[in-house]
Amino acid sequence: EAPVIYAVTPTYARPVQKAELTRLSQTLMHVSNLHWIVIEDAVKKSSLVENLLARTNLNHTHLFVQTPVPYRRKGSPRGVEQRNAALRWLRKNKTMNDKGVVYFADDDNSYSLQVFDEMRYTKEVSVWPVGLVGGLMVEKPILNLTTGKVVGWNSAWRPDRPFPIDMAGFAISLQHILKKSKAYFAYNVSGGFQESHILQQLTVRENLEPKADNCTQVLVWHTRTEGPRLTEENKLIARGIHSDV
Ligand code: UDP
Ligand code: MN
Repeated sequence: EAPVIYAVTPTYARPVQKAELTRLSQTLMHVSNLHWIVIEDAVKKSSLVENLLARTNLNHTHLFVQTPVPYRRKGSPRGVEQRNAALRWLRKNKTMNDKGVVYFADDDNSYSLQVFDEMRYTKEVSVWPVGLVGGLMVEKPILNLTTGKVVGWNSAWRPDRPFPIDMAGFAISLQHILKKSKAYFAYNVSGGFQESHILQQLTVRENLEPKADNCTQVLVWHTRTEGPRLTEENKLIARGIHSDV
């Protein structure tokens, strides 16, 4: 039996939310043995997400937790509370007998189906390149091809980060998540250090498992969706007309 991929997706209400989740859900529908954990940044489950999940044939878990007030501002790390809720759910509901891998799949990235094949048999922590992030076309691990180990990164932005890698560029085995039961995301780390913070609790560089053809393939992109211009829509809202889409 192949390990289950637990795709962990924080999401929040904004005009593009349904489009993002539709796109992501339809990518995930092509992945076998996948369990989608969707965590809304909200005080309760929304019918938008509820209905969307009901319409997919995906195994899923729908959670919600609102980002605490002091961190609900620009510049604060996003998705912290939501990813931690997923970690808590996994540690509560899964055991060492369950085979799986945990992947933090933000709702706005672009995923090749191949990236899921690459991560599935992660022993502890696997890594691969991420496109369109860190001010580069691709931010990626550098390998020693003799040993097959990660010796560094090509990162340009804050290359001093312990793990200069994007959230989309690594996966953790479920057993490792259960074993390192104290590992969580945190707010008291500088911007761009979320990944380093969690990975430092889980592994050391020497133990990273490089995937995607020795980290030569780009199989995921840190795309970001432009906020739509809704000036006309706002005029309707001012007149009390609300479009439900
Ligand atoms: N997110 C969230 N609450 C927020 C902002 C973002 O739950 O207030 C989610 C978002 O939907 C995404 C993840 O957290 O799945 C990362 O956010 P974003 O994509 O905006 O971050 P960036 O692209 O800047 O890394
Ligand atoms: Mn994003």
